Amino acid sequence: MAKITLNNIAHSYDGGSSYALKAMSLDWHDGGAYALLGPSGCGKTTLLNIISGLLQPSEGQLLFDDVDVSGLPTEQRNIAQVFQFPVLYDTMTVAENLAFPLRNRRGADKLSAAEIDTRVQQAIAMLGLEALAGRKARGLSADDKQKISLGRGLVRTDVNAILFDEPLTVIDPHLKWQLRTQLKQIHRQFGHTMIYVTHDQTEALTFADKVVVMLAGEVVQVGTPQQLFDTPQHTFVGKFIGSPGMNVLPCELAGNQAVIDGHHIALPREYPVLTGVPELGIRPEFVRLVESHEGMPVQIVAVEDVGRHRIVRAQLNSHPLDIVLPEHQPVPSAPGVRFEMNRINIYQNSQLVGRGS
Ligand code: ATP
Repeated sequence: MAKITLNNIAHSYDGGSSYALKAMSLDWHDGGAYALLGPSGCGKTTLLNIISGLLQPSEGQLLFDDVDVSGLPTEQRNIAQVFQFPVLYDTMTVAENLAFPLRNRRGADKLSAAEIDTRVQQAIAMLGLEALAGRKARGLSADDKQKISLGRGLVRTDVNAILFDEPLTVIDPHLKWQLRTQLKQIHRQFGHTMIYVTHDQTEALTFADKVVVMLAGEVVQVGTPQQLFDTPQHTFVGKFIGSPGMNVLPCELAGNQAVIDGHHIALPREYPVLTGVPELGIRPEFVRLVESHEGMPVQIVAVEDVGRHRIVRAQLNSHPLDIVLPEHQPVPSAPGVRFEMNRINIYQNSQLVGRGS
């Protein structure tokens, strides 16, 4: 396994007119479980392909354990990559498919037949494929085929990192949770450096110790799931993470108060006058629904029961506002809201400039 360093990596597919990846520098620690999270088209696959060597970046260097590997072809980078769709040999059995990446090793890295067999049996046990080991890949379900693709990535121990590009896309929803949990266990057991690309926040937050959030070719935040929830560095992160996402409201700042449409909201500290439009971010979990005379009056648009709690969709003047309401709390007939002061984040030009607590 290796530490992976991106040193001012940037990529343009059109000779420099536009950049699918803008210059970025990042360290991915040896043995870390990372997710690359962002909407479609933000550059996740481009970055993954640069790490694996399928794509040569227009600018910058890629280092594995501080050694520049930018010029090395894929096969010399020792990277295992699992794609969205299964890549298997249909005429081989499940066990043969798993053994294939190990049989391919040459020279000092060559493994004995017994070693290969042990590794294959381990991978089969890890993924619960015992009943299928002797079956040909052809004719297996898409779920099982993708499990084998995952196994082909996990069977190798010589790899610098294992890259997963939306690996659960074809997997049946009820199996996704199970496979994600298995991947997490495998990570704990073997300590591979793993990078998992997804546009699904649940997948990212349950798999990774650290999540790299991307938007329009840029990294907007690297953080633990808790950090992304508590202190989104960018309004996009606040809105993208969470269900529903953070409320972001345009405001004015007056000393230690934010003012929204004439309503004064206390802040834990003073702010200088900010140029540009400041915004107040508050997660729906930290908006309290009260009687209108106790807070800022709101209009309720809809109430959705999602089991553990309800989500109240409201309007604060012209601004939509989501509220998480505990299961047994009644909805007031004349509703208002209060924001938990130490949970308010203040943004300027979409960037965090101050947090509540
Ligand atoms: P998705 O989740 O849809 O796969 P992504 O976050 O992985 O998206 P990329 O596939 O890396 O994003 O694409 C980033 C940008 O680069 C997009 O605007 C895309 O259209 C463009 N792009 C990707 N591959 C190519 C290519 N081979 N040639 C030209 N442009 C490309």
